Amino acid sequence: MRKKIVAGNWKMNKTLEEGLALASEIIAQVAQNVPADTVVVLNTPFIHLTEVRKMIPTGTNIFLGAQNCYTEASGAFTGEISAAMLKSIPVEYTIIGHSERREYFQENNQQLAKKLDLLLEQGITPIFCCGESLGIREAGTHLDFVKNQVTESLFHLSYEQMTQIVIAYEPIWAIGTGKTATAEQAQEMQAAIRQYIASKYGDELAEGLSILYGGSVKPDNAREIFAQPDVDGGLIGGASLKTSDFLEIAKSF
Ligand code: PEP
Repeated sequence: MRKKIVAGNWKMNKTLEEGLALASEIIAQVAQNVPADTVVVLNTPFIHLTEVRKMIPTGTNIFLGAQNCYTEASGAFTGEISAAMLKSIPVEYTIIGHSERREYFQENNQQLAKKLDLLLEQGITPIFCCGESLGIREAGTHLDFVKNQVTESLFHLSYEQMTQIVIAYEPIWAIGTGKTATAEQAQEMQAAIRQYIASKYGDELAEGLSILYGGSVKPDNAREIFAQPDVDGGLIGGASLKTSDFLEIAKSF
């Protein structure tokens, strides 16, 4: 049975005080309003993680996530955060390969493969982001482009490791732009990703994999997108910063 997941990506927003206020509101309201079979993940900036951890009651459907980790296990890498450090908080999830990291920090598929390995060693679930630019979509090569991202970052994983991954398809042209992919575009790509994973790991594994859509998901479009057979939830940027919008999205299955 695939998990239904709504993961908020706060990006580089909220001071410590603001972030704790937001987390506190969300945590209180998820308990009252979101069905227990929906997994809610708060991917906060690093500075919030330890404090938000203390606020999340045990045994709920709310989980904690980071937005990145480094490609090495430890050592002289000033300013970086390792997978083991994240585990020590602990977080359950970490976003890897967000398009903003690929674009502004030149992260490539091979580096992301290393990050995935380090997270999996720690028992942290990676939320692996993939997705094409507008130019690639207009050229009609988007399916091949995303398959290549999946091949280069994920296909070295063992069967067991692959069962631990969550994938987020995020067309770059839809992130933070207010321009959402249509439900059909999301479904087409996500079905293709699932089939591609099935071709290497088999149908059973692929059927159990949660594949999220990300890109301007809002309360007014979440229901239609989440209703697609290969969309198992969303990675939510802007709308995750407003409690009422995030909650409304989390109730949209
Ligand atoms: C994201 O940051 O992953 C994202 C999808 O952002 P937004 O919802 O703002 O488009």
